[in-house]
Amino acid sequence: MTAKTDLETYDLLIDGEFVNAADGERFETVNPATEDTLAKVARGRQEDIDAAVDAATDAFAEWRSTAPQERGRILNRLAAKIRDEKDRLAELETLDNGKPLWHAEADVETCARYFEYYAGAADKVHGKSIPLTDEYTDYTIREPLGVTGQIIPWNLPTNIFGRSVAPALATGNVAVVKPAEQTPLTALEVGRLASEAGVPDGVLNVVPGFGGEAGAALSAHPDVDGISFTGSVPTGIEVAQTALENVTNVHLELGGKSPNLVFPDADFEKAIESTKTSIFANAGQVCSAGSRLLVHEDIHDEFVDRLVERTKEVSIGAGIDGPEMGPLVSEEQFEKVTKYLEVGREEVGEPIVGGDVLDQDGYFVEPTIFDGVDNDMRIAQEEIFGPVLSVIEFSDEQESFEIANDVEYGLVAGIHTENVGRAHRFAREVDAGQVYVNEWFAGGEETPFGGFKKSGFGREKGLDAIDSYTQTKNVCTYIGQD
Ligand code: NAD
Repeated sequence: MTAKTDLETYDLLIDGEFVNAADGERFETVNPATEDTLAKVARGRQEDIDAAVDAATDAFAEWRSTAPQERGRILNRLAAKIRDEKDRLAELETLDNGKPLWHAEADVETCARYFEYYAGAADKVHGKSIPLTDEYTDYTIREPLGVTGQIIPWNLPTNIFGRSVAPALATGNVAVVKPAEQTPLTALEVGRLASEAGVPDGVLNVVPGFGGEAGAALSAHPDVDGISFTGSVPTGIEVAQTALENVTNVHLELGGKSPNLVFPDADFEKAIESTKTSIFANAGQVCSAGSRLLVHEDIHDEFVDRLVERTKEVSIGAGIDGPEMGPLVSEEQFEKVTKYLEVGREEVGEPIVGGDVLDQDGYFVEPTIFDGVDNDMRIAQEEIFGPVLSVIEFSDEQESFEIANDVEYGLVAGIHTENVGRAHRFAREVDAGQVYVNEWFAGGEETPFGGFKKSGFGREKGLDAIDSYTQTKNVCTYIGQD
């Protein structure tokens, strides 16, 4: 079985078969480092989503009654296959998305790890026994939702595919995945590997297409029982409203504008490196990017000078050559980020480093830092989703906590300090689904992830994701004497 019908043409994966879209149309994906067409992909629409949902519905009864340990074995085989094909998948991800090859390799490993982690959890999903009076016995069962729709963004395509699909399948759900139109290729390849690993036909379907077509058809489908949406706030709201028409279970993993606090007692060099990674990893196209740097006035000048030096060393180039930073994913994202460079110039003047685009093909924007930012400016409040950092100065702990929370998002928050009490006061005070202390992006597949405020609701990752993909049934029996 192969995902490709020739070198550059990809089909939809429905019911274990690679098939063209019902209307035969295809769309092009672009290599963002060169602006060349990379592949032609079948363009899924309503009819294709209907076929995928039908296939998933038919496959559900068998998959949910497959012994959990057997589901775990199959998902473990899939993890192994992903690792076996790591080099090829990573190269494809880099060409499709633009990210550095080393980063794509890490994302592919993360995807494998999600399948491995949830394979291990498959036979540990159980309910509880609830004590009532002697006349009753009561227990709960965690049951799968049924057909789940997984809507995936372009910034971490393979990673988030694993994050959403692995817990869904492990808990006995079936899935229809709608990858982002910019980056659909690795989802199809992992779908192929799933079939080879023994995931039965119809259990995992992959239907690339545009958001307003395939995505909207999936979120509106009356036979879909759960939607996992990862993407922007406006689209998330639309998807949730649509899903609500059918009272479909939905959870939303949305954007962020996350604060990264640095105090004078922080390990200086570690905080510099952590701050650089927080905003320039994946060219800033990370929901959990540390896009607001809150730095104490006593160290502001020295810290920012050193950060600028380090930023000038960040190498930029085609991801395939393994630079520190690659291009943005698409022309649309390039235009959005360059508009924010203008907004930043209007609000605070010239950036202290970066601020330009590379004079060559590809969607390359320099790593950029604006200093002297007020927290009420647009570049401090709006998610830019590019390599653009806003630096805000503060004078004491209370003020820093207030600035940290003064934003409509609440995805992640980080603090650099050697003061344990302050770190935990921050963890208690901050509105964020996860808190990093002394290292940005600390945590792994095992740690729950999700948003407060407009960053969403529901949790992915860790054992918390099991709750997102299952529903509770309570069974109460009268056992008193007749
Ligand atoms: P997006 O909202 O534009 O698209 C996300 C997905 O939704 C894509 O597959 C898209 O095709 C689909 N879509 C678009 N319109 C739709 C519609 N009307 N109905 C159904 N589906 C539709 O987001 P994006 O630009 O691809 O991704 C970037 C955003 O994702 C950022 O805001 C980022 O912070 C967020 N994100 C969040 C997390 C998280 O875990 N919280 C992780 C990664 C990215």
